[in-house]
Amino acid sequence: MTHLVSTGLDALPGPTVVVLGGGFAGITLIQKLAKQPVKVLLIDQNNFHTFQPLLYQVATGSLAPDNIGFPYRRKIAKIPNVAFRKAVVHSVDTQEQHIHTDQGIFAYDYLVVATGSKTNFFGNEALERNSLQLKSIAQALDIRSDFLQEFEDALYLQDDDRRSALNFVIVGGGPTGVEVAGALAEIRKNILAEEYKEVDAETMQITLIEAGPRVLASFSEKSSHVAQDYLRSMGVQLRLGQRVLDYDGEMLTLSTGESLRSRTVIWSAGVMGAAVSGLPANVYTRANRLSVNDFLQVDGVSNVFAVGDVAFVGANGHPMVAPVAIQQAEVLAKNLLLLASNAAPAHPFRYRDQGNLATIGRNKAVVEVGKLRFQGLVAWYLWMAVHLVSLIGFKNRLVVLFNWAMKYFSHKNIIRLIVRPPSHSAARSGKASK
Ligand SMILES: Cc1cc2nc3c(=O)[nH]c(=O)nc-3n(C[C@H](O)[C@H](O)[C@H](O)COP(=O)(O)OP(=O)(O)OC[C@H]3O[C@@H](n4cnc5c(N)ncnc54)[C@H](O)[C@@H]3O)c2cc1C
Repeated sequence: MTHLVSTGLDALPGPTVVVLGGGFAGITLIQKLAKQPVKVLLIDQNNFHTFQPLLYQVATGSLAPDNIGFPYRRKIAKIPNVAFRKAVVHSVDTQEQHIHTDQGIFAYDYLVVATGSKTNFFGNEALERNSLQLKSIAQALDIRSDFLQEFEDALYLQDDDRRSALNFVIVGGGPTGVEVAGALAEIRKNILAEEYKEVDAETMQITLIEAGPRVLASFSEKSSHVAQDYLRSMGVQLRLGQRVLDYDGEMLTLSTGESLRSRTVIWSAGVMGAAVSGLPANVYTRANRLSVNDFLQVDGVSNVFAVGDVAFVGANGHPMVAPVAIQQAEVLAKNLLLLASNAAPAHPFRYRDQGNLATIGRNKAVVEVGKLRFQGLVAWYLWMAVHLVSLIGFKNRLVVLFNWAMKYFSHKNIIRLIVRPPSHSAARSGKASK
């Protein structure tokens, strides 16, 4: 007989809903199912929720990791029908209605896959091994330690070696790439130039490579061009319409036939679904996302649902952004409560586009809401306000606001401890965070 892991919820009424992943989708779902007649188990590999939109600020020393994370146990402490187990999910068995994890097997009546996405290197193992990525707090800390270590190393190096250590390449001109490039440009101006006096700050190069014709492809052309102008004015070199073919940890090969020497490549050029295995083969669709119907049911398995980045709805799917994940979880919560009372799901998912935001640096952002377009200071304030209210936890909001104010007046990224081994060597020896 299979031994199932206990969740401590058995005495409560209602079916068991297991939620895999406590990202934007998972955490919204458990909030909506709180104190309802269902038993809810949240499983995540981390014991905390990560607010990914501000990861780049951890990577560039503006915020501490704790400011953008929130422990699940604090979130659910006062919710009697929700339990949490920290475990890595390996696969699901839809016949037995079991979830296989590194901690044992869990049973479900309804399963919600909300495992989000991971970096897509499009099968290039050398790129994956040698570049840094930004999907988790651990990876953000790798980047922070890496660039600070490069600054320290540069003092011991000369000529080409110094230039290579201070040549930072970001691949992918989406919001993440743009935000990282802008933040590094500010660090060059305010930290390298002022605090590393023996180094000529102009030696530090920041190159943003984008395969398409413009950065921020999901924005209007006008906003893209505003962002490009901001980046160029900050000294970021843009290479548009160029693809990275390979990177061996020292040399980057481009589709133009050129090579760039750099010890730090940050890859933000693609994401793919972090789908769990064990579902019917035909549901794994484009970019490893799970094909679901309008009720977010995985095709052919009526008691398994997918929400957030990992879900692919309709013919084209939706963008992998937080509002999609949140809205899907809200709709699914209503349908799960109907199912729990033996009714059929009645609420189809329809996405309400809330707009696009990206920040490039101090007083520089682009925001699009419906037909409205903002840029500059107003957009920057809007960007900050939206991120602040979306953060989980009152204390986190307060601390982030305080840190932003400190940074605004001091012009300094203040969180600058090197806490990781240098990742250009760590990555090469396979030790960079996954
Ligand atoms: C750097 C960065 C910046 C971004 N900026 C923005 C932005 O400005 N605006 C915006 O709207 N969106 C932004 N996004 C996208 C947004 O963060 C995602 O769309 C959103 O997080 C998706 O939510 P989710 O719940 O589907 O997945 P996630 O938030 O990724 O959560 C998935 C959860 O599943 C867990 N998990 C995964 N696999 C397993 C497993 N096998 N076992 C156990 N647990 C597992 C993870 O630990 C994680 O907690 C950004 C993303 C990144 C990486």
